[in-house]
Amino acid sequence: MKSYRKELWFNTSQRRELINITPHIQKELEISGIREGLILVNAMHITASVFINDDESGLHKDFEKWLEKLAPEKPYSQYNHNTFEDNADAHLKRTIMGREVVVAVTDGKLDFGPWEQIFYGEFDGKRKKRVLVKIIGE
Ligand code: ZN
Repeated sequence: MKSYRKELWFNTSQRRELINITPHIQKELEISGIREGLILVNAMHITASVFINDDESGLHKDFEKWLEKLAPEKPYSQYNHNTFEDNADAHLKRTIMGREVVVAVTDGKLDFGPWEQIFYGEFDGKRKKRVLVKIIGE
């Protein structure tokens, strides 16, 4: 069995941003040379997510509205966590959107269902943060 590990870095210009990272993941899969197996992609920070959904701009606005209803960023004082930080909402948003995804690798490709794309969800950005890619198989 082969295994491959890579860290990808992202630095968003806004506090919250969704980035389609599918092309990056496909590139890492090609570099790994693995044709059959599993790929794990996870955020390495507790205020960012990796999730799978549709790359549709209306849906992305819906995610933003929905997450702001569940865990509004402001007022910062509504959260116990916000004593030395102001990112309690980002921790909550990350928990709802998930830490990682696992995708089957078949014949050297990501074995997606229709419209599936992998996203990095940043909820406390404007700084460098990492995503881990781990691929196992042969
Ligand atoms: Zn925090």
